[in-house]
Amino acid sequence: MDTTVQSTSDLAIDGGKPVREEILAYGGQTIGEDDVSAVAETLRSDWLTTGPKVDEFEEEFADFVGAEEAVTVSNGTAALHAAMHVIGISPGDEVIVPTMTFAATANSVTFEGGTPVFADVDPDTLLLDPKSVEEKIGPDTEAIVGVDYMGQPCRYDALRDIAETHDLVLLDDACHAIGGSYKGRPVGSLADLNTFSLHPVKNMTTGEGGMITTDDAEWAKKMRQFRNHGITSTHHERSEEGSWYYEIPEAGYNYRLTDFQCALGMSQLEKLPGWVERRREIAARYDEAFGSMEATEPLKRRDDATCAYHLYVIRLALDRLQVDRKTLFEALQAEGIGVNVHYIPVHLQPHYRENLGTEPGLCPNAEAGYERILTLPVFPRMAESDMEDVIRAVRKVLSTYRR
Ligand SMILES: *Cc1c(COP(=O)(O)O)cnc(C)c1O
Repeated sequence: MDTTVQSTSDLAIDGGKPVREEILAYGGQTIGEDDVSAVAETLRSDWLTTGPKVDEFEEEFADFVGAEEAVTVSNGTAALHAAMHVIGISPGDEVIVPTMTFAATANSVTFEGGTPVFADVDPDTLLLDPKSVEEKIGPDTEAIVGVDYMGQPCRYDALRDIAETHDLVLLDDACHAIGGSYKGRPVGSLADLNTFSLHPVKNMTTGEGGMITTDDAEWAKKMRQFRNHGITSTHHERSEEGSWYYEIPEAGYNYRLTDFQCALGMSQLEKLPGWVERRREIAARYDEAFGSMEATEPLKRRDDATCAYHLYVIRLALDRLQVDRKTLFEALQAEGIGVNVHYIPVHLQPHYRENLGTEPGLCPNAEAGYERILTLPVFPRMAESDMEDVIRAVRKVLSTYRR
């Protein structure tokens, strides 16, 4: 590192005045009094869990994404697990996943004994590359998982063609992308199974929570059993029949979402379109600011998709900078900007290196992308001044470290 730059800089990391005193997180929930009332009202009702709010939330969510069925579960990882279960993944089966994702996408394959096979991403969007998918298909492949990284839907027409040609199930891990669309079709209706997380950092929240959408009624039924210990009838159905008898044809889990969480989910869903619009406005302002800075390159957004901006990711032109991403990360944190990195390619995690022998070089685009990405704050309740702080801090840090 060039120390003359350091000693003369007014960066907060060198003891200068930070752009802001209080750290701005990269994401966060928006909770209004209407959300609080919806939860409080449910807490005062007869049902805390597995009552009417679960059915209502599932119906509203299915309508919102244009799917026949929506199934609530306790989190996004459980949603992926339930999906792997109904696909019928078992030992010996392979599922193709992009390596540029949160580890849960790959981990969920292993929950049912399957093996994740890591595919590479398009270098300009960091989305699953259909060409890499085709290269990874083998006799044991059962499914392909697209991850709508950043909130931008994958190229589902291409992925659908590949899935049909090879008789594979297509799954969309849409945890970033609720509120987005592809060729006019909403996320949630793009794959055979579509999974969502309702964690507070995602585009809408139920505290913890997850959802799977599908047009397949049999799968939906199986997933409702899977989330409730594998029991075939609901508590409600049994009380109507006046019966204590129930059956468990195969063991399941307790992956249920509570009624008060579903009440929160419905209240949040109403506001989601406005929030996604706000995320898009913030992204447009960032695009304008960073598009003209020499040392950054925003990720490409395609014309055929509407990005829901769970994340806003910039790529650093490291050849134009004197320092690496780690220093830039620390410098921006010191300025009060809660930057993050999404994601460490999953195939580089010790678990997969040890168990599957995945090594650096397996997915070169994702590995090269990883070295130069930074996630900047984007969430609906950011103030205009927060957004300007982000832009000022990035400009300050990058101009100081310019080559
Ligand atoms: C958040 C996320 C998950 C996991 O969701 P949880 O609700 O935290 O279990 C899975 N995949 C992706 C792409 C995610 O962003």
